[in-house]
Amino acid sequence: MAGSETAGTTKTAATTGETRPAVKCLVWDLDNTLWQGTLLENDELRLRPGVLKTLRALDERGILQSVASRNDHADAWPRLEALGVAEYFVLPHIGWGRKSDAVRTVAEQLNFAQNTIAFIDDQHTERAEVAYHLPDVRCYDAAEAAGLPDLADFAPTVTTDARRRRAMYQEKFRREAAQSEFNGPDEDFLRSLDMRMRIARADADDLARVEELTLRTSQMNATGVHYSDADLRALLTDPDHEVLVTTVEDRFGSHGAVGVALLERQPASWRLKLLATSCRVVNFGIGTHVLRWIADQAALADVHLEADFRRTERNRIMEVAYRFAGFNSKPCACQDGRAADTDAPADVQRLHLVPQRQAAPTTLTATGPVLWSGDGAEKPWA
Ligand SMILES: [Zn+2]
Repeated sequence: MAGSETAGTTKTAATTGETRPAVKCLVWDLDNTLWQGTLLENDELRLRPGVLKTLRALDERGILQSVASRNDHADAWPRLEALGVAEYFVLPHIGWGRKSDAVRTVAEQLNFAQNTIAFIDDQHTERAEVAYHLPDVRCYDAAEAAGLPDLADFAPTVTTDARRRRAMYQEKFRREAAQSEFNGPDEDFLRSLDMRMRIARADADDLARVEELTLRTSQMNATGVHYSDADLRALLTDPDHEVLVTTVEDRFGSHGAVGVALLERQPASWRLKLLATSCRVVNFGIGTHVLRWIADQAALADVHLEADFRRTERNRIMEVAYRFAGFNSKPCACQDGRAADTDAPADVQRLHLVPQRQAAPTTLTATGPVLWSGDGAEKPWA
């Protein structure tokens, strides 16, 4: 599912006039590219000029970095550690196979399209081999290493979560390793993660992350409607609207902001205008938990719940979630006498639910602001 998140595009179009996706992962050769010298020849290895600055700059922008090197892993990895840069790399491929195979495998393991991968190597023959087998991968000469951060290809839109992206992938790989070693039902594995879900009223700092979520989560977005930063900012202070952001943590680390919901209060019903959840957490059922939590709050408030839904080619999973939660298309008295809707696109359906109290999930702990009365203080879902 992670690969269904569309790539961010570069801020400025390439010189061809077309916008191509920003690079999401750069794969480094080691000998005479990352470091000066050749490991096998027992050279005294040091990072090439400008390389450390590039590693740090790309890392801060959320661009992942990997390794494709012809060496023995057991010899090369300790050198990266000694140089203090091992932490920057995910999924290193240090061995004796073809570089194109290493680059392809990195793309597959990350679930990234090949046109979001870049490769840097001092050897023309290696670049040509990768370019031949993987024509969408962008190849760079080692001489360009110091200048990469200045290229538009390496200038994605940077968000709060982007700065943690590498750490989040490293946590994900540890989580997956734990899951593959776990013997027992999936539900027991989920409990073993010690997951905490927090639903909170969004503040201005959350909005960039929220906007990115609504752009990137096309499969998990119930309306396919994009709410801009300005749209949502205006609603933050609107007493009739709630902009809610969901974050999830577990014993491996934080998943960051993984969900956004936009709720409009009406006298007899609450209207869910936007519900989007990151594909990163679909296996944990976070979208369903958020939907059930909102239904529980609506039941406590004694109001009906409505949800805007627009079928797109990609969001069938959301339709299933709504239907499974009991939403349907039948008319209800709570809709009587309401002024015509002016801000919803014409092809948006209005789904409806008479909500019931919902039991808290058994696989995680959850907190959220009390929406139905009082000051909105955050309370455990119980
Ligand atoms: Zn109703």
